[in-house]
Formats: sequence, C-alpha cells, structure tokens
Amino acid sequence: MLNDNFGVHPLTDQSAHVRFRAREVSTWLQARAEQLDLDRHLASQVLPQLGQAGLFRIGVPTDIGGSGGTILHAIDAIATIAEDSMAAALVFWGQRAFVECLLQSENTALRASLLPSLLSGELAGAVGLSNGMKFLSKMEALQLSATAFRPVGGVQYWTLTGSIPWVTNLRPEGFVAAIATDHTDGKQPSIFAVPNEIEGVIRSDDLDLVALRATNTAALYLQKAVLDESFQIASNAPDFLAGVRPNLLGLQCGLSIGLTRRSLRSLDSTGPIARSVLADNCRSLEAELHGIVLDLLDGISSGEFIDKPKQLFSLRLLLASLVQEANILEVHATGGRGYIRGHADLARRRREAAFIPIITPSVVEIRSLFEKNE
Ligand SMILES: Cc1cc2nc3c(=O)[nH]c(=O)nc-3n(C[C@H](O)[C@H](O)[C@H](O)COP(=O)(O)OP(=O)(O)OC[C@H]3O[C@@H](n4cnc5c(N)ncnc54)[C@H](O)[C@@H]3O)c2cc1C
Repeated sequence: MLNDNFGVHPLTDQSAHVRFRAREVSTWLQARAEQLDLDRHLASQVLPQLGQAGLFRIGVPTDIGGSGGTILHAIDAIATIAEDSMAAALVFWGQRAFVECLLQSENTALRASLLPSLLSGELAGAVGLSNGMKFLSKMEALQLSATAFRPVGGVQYWTLTGSIPWVTNLRPEGFVAAIATDHTDGKQPSIFAVPNEIEGVIRSDDLDLVALRATNTAALYLQKAVLDESFQIASNAPDFLAGVRPNLLGLQCGLSIGLTRRSLRSLDSTGPIARSVLADNCRSLEAELHGIVLDLLDGISSGEFIDKPKQLFSLRLLLASLVQEANILEVHATGGRGYIRGHADLARRRREAAFIPIITPSVVEIRSLFEKNE
C-alpha cells in the first residue's frame, strides 16, 4: 500500500492491540496459506491457532471473558487475518459471528455455558444463517421447521427437521451452529443453537471445494433433532436477525477489507516502472477503501444500519467491487511472476476474491433487492 493509514479506522490504541494479537498467528498463517486454501489437512488446527492468539475475545466485554473493545475491533481483526489467509479469516468470521449472536441473545444461561469454550477456541461456533437472512429479505422460505411439544409439567421442547446446504466451521471435533427455523404451530420463526452431539444432528462430509478447503465447510442436516428452550437464542427471528445483521455483515466485510488491503500492498514489491504507472490507480483505490471503511464503522457504531440496511448493503457492494479492482491491480503489479508456482499468493488471492461476491447477502441478492426497491 502507498499509505499505511488508509483502510483502517482511527480506532484509538485498541487497533494496535488487534494487530499485535493477529501478528502472533500471522507467521503461522503465511507459511500455510496455500495449504489452508487447497487442502483440508490443517483444518483442525486453524481454530486453536486463532483461539490461542486471543482473537475471539476481541470486542467481547472483559467481565464475560473477553479482552474488551468493540465490534469494530473484531472487524479489524478479521481484516488483519484475511490479509494472510481467507480460509482462516472465514473460520474466524464463523466463530465470531456465532459469539455475536450469543452476545445479543437474551438467553444469558446459554451465553454463560457456551462462551468460555468458544472464546478459547475449544468449541467451534458456526452460523447457518444465510437462509434466515434471505428469509428476512423475503427472498427464501426457511428450510428448517420446528414442532413444539411439552411433557406435562415439563419445559418446552421442539423437534427440528430440515437442512442447511452450506455452513463453515462445522468442526468434526465439536460444534454449535446458529440456525433459523419456522414453527409448525404458526408461532414466530426463532433462532436456535444446535450442538453437534444431539441425536439427529448430522454433518455431511466436507464439501469438495475448489478453495477455502481448510474451513470445515459442510451441509447440516437436522433429522428430528430435539432441543429444549435452553438452546433458543431468540424467540423472534425477524427482530433478532434485523438487530444482529449490521454486526454480522460488518464482520463479513472484514474479509473484503483485508483482502483489498493485501492486494494493494503488492505494489510495495513490484518494480519501479509498474509502481509508477500503477501508483495513481492504487492511491485512488486506497482512498476509496478508506472512505468505505469509515462509513461502515460509523454506521455500525451509531446503530443506524439496523433501521437502514440498504446503506449497509451499498457499502457491502462497494467493497465487493473494490476487492476485484484491487485484485486486478495486483495482477498488473505482479506480472509474469504470478504464473510461477513459487509466487502462488496471487493465484490464491484470485480464488479468495472470487468468493467475496457470493457470500450472503450476495451481490446478486443485493442488486435484486435494490431493483425491487425493497
Ligand atoms: C465456501 C462457502 C462457505 C459458506 N459458508 C456459509 C456459512 O457459514 N453460513 C451460511 O449460512 N452460508 C454459507 N455459505 C453460503 C453463502 O452465504 C451463500 O448463501 C451461497 O453461496 C449462495 O449460493 P447458492 O448456491 O445458494 O446460490 P443459488 O441459490 O444457486 O443462486 C445463484 C445466485 O443467485 C443468488 N440468489 C439466490 N437466491 C436469490 C434470490 N431469491 N434473489 C436474488 N438473488 C438470489 C445467489 O446469491 C447466487 O449469487 C457459504 C458458501 C460458500 C461457497
């Protein structure tokens, strides 16, 4: 990058704290980024590595086991990891997004029981909420349904059935996934935390991905899985999802911010001619990134995106375009070296960048919302 100050929010000294913690895993990730993208053998190590560096505690209050700061610091931390490895950053996103659901849940007992092992990285947290978010935007019906029953004098139970085709961070060693479900009795859709050890909770084999393979991404099937009310994150899914969406999408934007920052940095290692030719282009992309990040962080911290999701979606679209432009700039800056196996970072970042437009809310979903003016 031509200017180190671009792309980061003036977050006070906490931002340096984020970078310090992320640096602890940076060396590990840089040495393995290719492997994390192309095969799944290191999948079991990613979460513990991030957990040991304390990354999941960022933006979580200190009195419940976090290291303090706000959601903005967590976004910055995900961006910092995405500079090294999108696979690791995607795992981080899944974990931190689940933690965020717990932080915003009224179910304090569930939070107290799950948070310690999630923050340390012993337990994997996942969010299978694309379906719920699309439901919120009136694009898709919910794919899970819950049937209530209550033994006489007992607590409330539900039998859950259905499937979610894509969920990242479903660690075979143990996970808990947030999902949105309809209710057969006509009650409001709700959000549950589904632990892997419950009977009827089935994880597919890892999906045979072309990239991002060490992310434990699989389908999740619920076949008459029985959960009681202690697993309910929220009894009103639309309200809950609308409230948590800015933070979840903000965390996801961290992926784009980090990838853009990294591609723009490629100019640092190119020759003088390419550097001088591309400098203006790079500067303008840096300035654009800086502006988008400021708007994103300001909107999230003020809470205005809760009622005005379109503003947030616009920033998500701008970031998705910026990733592609910065990625092409890196192609220009790297030249033929990008085709040499020993310089495979660029090819990996091309694959990583290809993922950005499709994660929900995808570019197509947002454009279609804008076209419908909803
Ligand atoms: C590696 C990977 C990891 C993922 N991890 C997770 C995860 O952890 N949690 C999770 O919930 N999801 C996850 N997803 C799913 C992701 O968020 C998107 O929901 C999914 O990629 C969209 O693709 P699709 O196959 O469902 O698209 P299709 O349904 O085949 O649609 C094709 C295109 O149209 C868009 N589209 C679909 N329906 C509509 C509509 N009604 N209106 C407008 N546009 C529409 C899609 O976004 C896509 O761009 C993951 C996906 C990938 C590839």
